[in-house]
Order: sequence, then C-alpha cells, then structure tokens
Amino acid sequence: NVVKHYPITAGALFKHVVGQVRAVDGVSFDLAAGETLGLVGETGCGKSTLARCLAGLHPVTSGSVRFDGTDITNLPRRRMRPYRRDIQVIFQDPYGSLNPRRRVGSIIADPLVIHRVMSGEQLRRTVQELMERVGLNPEHYNRFPAEFSGGQRQRIGVARALALRPRLIICDEPVSALDVSIQAQILNLLKDLQVEYGLTYLFIAHDLSVVRHISDRIAVMYLGKIVELGAADPVYDRPRHPYTNALLSATAVADPDEAQRRRRVVLTGDVPSPIDPPSGCRFHPRCPRAQDICSTEEPLLEGTEGTEGTAACHFPMEVVV
Ligand code: SF4
Ligand code: MG
Repeated sequence: NVVKHYPITAGALFKHVVGQVRAVDGVSFDLAAGETLGLVGETGCGKSTLARCLAGLHPVTSGSVRFDGTDITNLPRRRMRPYRRDIQVIFQDPYGSLNPRRRVGSIIADPLVIHRVMSGEQLRRTVQELMERVGLNPEHYNRFPAEFSGGQRQRIGVARALALRPRLIICDEPVSALDVSIQAQILNLLKDLQVEYGLTYLFIAHDLSVVRHISDRIAVMYLGKIVELGAADPVYDRPRHPYTNALLSATAVADPDEAQRRRRVVLTGDVPSPIDPPSGCRFHPRCPRAQDICSTEEPLLEGTEGTEGTAACHFPMEVVV
C-alpha cells in the first residue's frame, strides 16, 4: 500500500503547502525471486516515483516496502546500506545518467569503491570483466561517455548496476531512448544476465509491447494506481481493464486478425493531473465504458490473481475466446 505524495508549496518568503501531488497512491504487489514484473503506464503515471521509493532513493509517505521479509521502508542511510547493494537501478537516459567528465571505467567502478568492495588492480580487472560481460570492449575503460553510442552507454549503465552482484534490478525505461534495433539487443542482454546471475527485475516501460517478451507478469499503472495485474500473455492478449485495452490499441499491430481482436479505441482527453485526480475510478473521464457508478465509487484491484489476472474496474472487458 505504498503512497508517495509531494507537497506543492507557494510563497517566496514564507513557504506554505498549497496542495499534494499524489504521484503514487496506494500501490501493492509482490515480486518473486527470479521473476520479471513489467510495469507500464503513460508518462507521469508514477512509475519512476514508485521505482525510486522501492530502491530507497525517495522516502515513502505511507505504506511499506519489504525485501526478503524485512521491512526496509524509510530506513536510515546506514541501515539501508546492505540493501543498496542488493537493489540496483538502471536509469532511462543513457546520456544524462553518466557523468560526461569521468572515464567509463571509473563510472562502472563507483559502486565497488563506494561500498569498499575492492580497489587497485583487482578493481580494474573486475571492471574490465564487467565491460566484457555486457558487450563492451574492455580496452575502452579509459574512454569518456561521449565516445560511446546510446546503446553502448546503456551497456555501461548495466555494467554499473551489475557490479555489486545485486539480486533485484529496477530497470526504469532502460530502452525507451534507444532505436528499436538497439532496444532488442539490450533486452536480450538483460535476459541473458537474468539467467546467468539469477536476477529479479522490475522492468518499467510506457510501451506494453516492450515489456511483453521480457515479463512474466505485467502491472498497468494509471494516475498513481495499479489498474490491472496479471500474467504477461493474458494481459496482452485479453486485457480486462479498459485502460489496458486503450494502451494496446495505441501500439502498432502487424497481424490484421490481432488488430480486429483489439477492438481499437482511441483515448480522448489528456491524462488528468495527479494533483486533483478524478473521483471514483480515475480513468472515468476518458473511459469509453464508464457508467454513473464509475465517478462515485472507486473500483478495487481485488480477488485472487488467477491466470487471467485482476483488474480494478466495475465493468471489465469481457474475455473473448
Ligand atoms: Fe471505465 Fe468504469 Fe471500469 Fe473505470 S470502473 S475503467 S470508468 S468502466
Ligand atoms: Mg519515468
């Protein structure tokens, strides 16, 4: 039940709180070891904020985060330290997340230096092994980020995230900024590394087609809440929530039969502001299936998550066989 609200302040001299951005508003899910959970939603739905809360980079407003049965919610820095090794983040922007004035070898070495794991010759050797493992030329450890392509820079980010041998990697839109052909290479690399190191992934994207092939399960987020959660194929093939269906309609479909099944819907209106989200179901102003009850009663993501998953909707899409 993780909640993350940001206060909005006004006033130059005497700042006072005038509202709350409800970025994450009561999100619950679990993640099994070795699993990949895809988290999808439009820009601004709270995915990255949620990721940062889980990684301990942002304090949560309420709710709790457990890792291996231990409550790690808002731990003080020192007690969070071991979990910072276990939980790593790969960021979206392979251009912005690497310091342009530092050599890639030292960027990749950072976590090992900060956590005092090793130094000297052993450190250099380990960095070069990591570079090799992610498909970079280990001879290039003295180069600067600008000397690498976008895809190679994301490999640098992957190597840095791997350095401490984490158990969970939160991938925050790691391929969104890359060309489609490069995306596939990075996704394949992440899949190989998962098998090799027994990694667990929370994989964030705004495009359902990107997460489909890498995810065991998919969670769909809208305005700070998870609206649908289930095994990847059923969510993709037979979405229950009208928002998931709309997201899928927006992605290009090559197969005409599949396009037919998709019952294309076009979303109207903009994503409402998370400062003052709509009452009842937050999707109701944009939902083609909305009825009166939708604006007054909030649908809950409930029920046991069977193979067909679960959707927070009063009138879920029928499953067409
Ligand atoms: Fe649409 Fe109503 Fe379902 Fe919300 S609860 S997604 S408004 S049908
Ligand atoms: Mg984001």
